[in-house]
Amino acid sequence: MTEQPGPERETAGHLPTSSAAAHGTRLDPWLGAYADRTHGMRASEIRALFAVANRPEVVSLAGGMPYLDGLPLDVLGEIAQRVVATRGLQALQYGSGQGDETLREQILEVMRLEGIDAHPDDVVVTTGSQQALDLVTRIFINPGDVVVAEAPSYVGALGVFRAYQADVVHVPIDAEGLIPEELESTLAALSAAGRPVKFLYTVPNFHNPAGVSLSVERRPRVLEIARRYGVLVLEDNPYGLLGFDGEPRAAMRSMDADGVLYLGSFSKTFAPGYRVGWVVAPHAVREKLVLASESAILCPSNASQIAISTYLSTCDWRGQIKSYREMYRERRDAMVGALAEHLPEASWNVPDGGFYTWVRLPDGLDAKDMLPRAVTARVAYVPGTAFYYDGAGSDHMRLSFCYPTPERIREGVRRLASVVAGEREL
Ligand code: PMP
Repeated sequence: MTEQPGPERETAGHLPTSSAAAHGTRLDPWLGAYADRTHGMRASEIRALFAVANRPEVVSLAGGMPYLDGLPLDVLGEIAQRVVATRGLQALQYGSGQGDETLREQILEVMRLEGIDAHPDDVVVTTGSQQALDLVTRIFINPGDVVVAEAPSYVGALGVFRAYQADVVHVPIDAEGLIPEELESTLAALSAAGRPVKFLYTVPNFHNPAGVSLSVERRPRVLEIARRYGVLVLEDNPYGLLGFDGEPRAAMRSMDADGVLYLGSFSKTFAPGYRVGWVVAPHAVREKLVLASESAILCPSNASQIAISTYLSTCDWRGQIKSYREMYRERRDAMVGALAEHLPEASWNVPDGGFYTWVRLPDGLDAKDMLPRAVTARVAYVPGTAFYYDGAGSDHMRLSFCYPTPERIREGVRRLASVVAGEREL
């Protein structure tokens, strides 16, 4: 039997014949021209399903979109108008690569809620913390360099690490977050193997996707281990102010100003559409980050920064965060209540903040295999495999409780339970 070329193998035919493009295909004549790193950029296997999952009849427990209906849109509209009327020429102009100075001062005030004491010069404003992840990876990672990260880890960070051809080594977590002993043994093994670790990536508060937080007792221990092995800590903290009970935990950056790069964002505590986040970094690293950011985007959006700055100085942003917390707590309660009622054979954690529950399926069921049937049953989630570099995690799923109403969450979990029951009968 002659082997038929698959679509990726089809030759370019009459298409460009330059040497770089010589390995192109009819689908993509430039396939042979891409840099090696581009081949590491993978479309999510579940992207096609998400197009279906976004239909209104599907209850999506998949996405991590904040629920914005409680925002004072009338006030934000007035702010937008005022910004253009009074500072339009500045708002619409290029700005500083490091970010607006007034906003950087206000960011210090936000970070003080988690015990961080910094100077406005330490802050670099970015286009969401996603860009900050990109910049940090860009300035530290050569192909093959090791990043140590929690198992599981935020899918968007793994995507950046993959794009820069990092090698991610996962460290297990439990109900109290990253396990110090496991971190220590992983770093010891890597050091014995002569493999330097560029940084430890961690989401210490209301982890995406696991929902857990690094306990207050473990924070100094993790920092001490990282320091001993000479490993920089990348603390990604978009959810820290969204705790349901008590005061925010002290940031790791508040305990170690030299060994921690801290990432913050207004996406979850205000609104992601402005695309404003930030990095706090030691002086020398900060200079590199500004250069990297200038080469990527010249400067963050002045219009967005001035709008957020005006919001922070004229609106009750603390009250807004409090109302978000109350709303998400009610949704968390709906989620864990519905899981207890309809899926008692699964196991999950009860997050005390943030957007996510991490659910382990019973009987070794495979969340990725099950997803098409779940979408047919009009419920969507993210299979655990998305959150591991090596495809592990198939017995887990991430359920988000941020966007659907409590009623929709309960309906979604009911549908999920019937899909799980069907799988167990297969
Ligand atoms: N880090 C984590 C852990 C996240 O969950 C997200 C968004 N889902 C981001 C970073 C990126 O957020 P943004 O770019 O909107 O600030």
